[in-house]
Amino acid sequence: MKMEEFLVQLDGVSKFYGATAALVDVRLRIGRGITGLLGPNGAGKTTLIKVLLGLVRISAGRGMVLGCSIGRSARSIRQQVGYMPEDDCYIAALSAVETVQLGARLSGLPGREALRRAHEILDFCGLKEERYRQAATYSLGMRQKLKFALAIVHDPRLVILDEPTSGLDPIEREEMLSRIQVLARKFGKAVLLSTHILPDVQAICDEVVILARGRVRMAESLESLNRPAEPAYWIQTVGPAAPLADWARTQGLPVQLDNERRLQLATDDPLLLQRLWQGAEQTGSAIRSVQPAKNSLEAIFLEALEESTHAYP
Ligand code: ATP
Repeated sequence: MKMEEFLVQLDGVSKFYGATAALVDVRLRIGRGITGLLGPNGAGKTTLIKVLLGLVRISAGRGMVLGCSIGRSARSIRQQVGYMPEDDCYIAALSAVETVQLGARLSGLPGREALRRAHEILDFCGLKEERYRQAATYSLGMRQKLKFALAIVHDPRLVILDEPTSGLDPIEREEMLSRIQVLARKFGKAVLLSTHILPDVQAICDEVVILARGRVRMAESLESLNRPAEPAYWIQTVGPAAPLADWARTQGLPVQLDNERRLQLATDDPLLLQRLWQGAEQTGSAIRSVQPAKNSLEAIFLEALEESTHAYP
């Protein structure tokens, strides 16, 4: 993809809240299609979104959204970006029609046209006759639909959705995911979907960005991540895995050191695994766990979760 085709470009962006590093040296490119932004709680997803919307000032680095600089053109960015926040945002006394019409008017449409647009968007979002009731009476699913409608009423080029399926039942979740797909595939919008729900990303995303402790851990296409992993075992050791890996190599076993305490045995033959157990005994290495290798998206996400669990006990 050429540079000018990227809708979002961040270079070396960091954001500190006092001593807390919410984003560290983030370099990111987001193009068309649906990009999943995955990360455990506290990873920096919301901060990243606020940076893109110009709602917080960055501590270092620079970035462009839709050709506008994030530090200088926040208003212009917000006119072209739709944002569905995680938290509720509705005016309790207004109906969905009134709320979305208000959104349309704020974006510059005159009264009748704004009303027409509100109905069109609410049809798309699946709010039926309840659209005439006060929003205060809505279920969580209805409130999510209303938030979604508000995010797209002004026909933005880029739509940022923060946990759009959170709290939805399975049918509502399916409907929300297919609506997001229509938005991207039929209407050509770029979508950034922030979530900690891996299956949502696997279901509809083209690209995946994993954040952990403010850093981009991985940014890749889902297609390349979903290629089935070669059959292998992951062997987690209590101490350093190197002595066991060295021993295994001398025995001709297909091993590879993944990190200080994990090695991979590239086979699904249990007899070779058994030999590795013997090697552990001979080298005095304690094996903590053995599991079949997973595809890399799940693996990296699990590692990110593990890392943050240790960081935020
Ligand atoms: P969640 O999924 O829980 O919403 P997140 O990935 O969106 O998490 P952020 O909300 O961006 O993560 O937070 C990243 C880090 O920055 C966390 O350590 C958080 O406590 C800290 N942080 C966020 N906002 C502020 C703030 N206004 N003042 C101080 N620290 C903050």
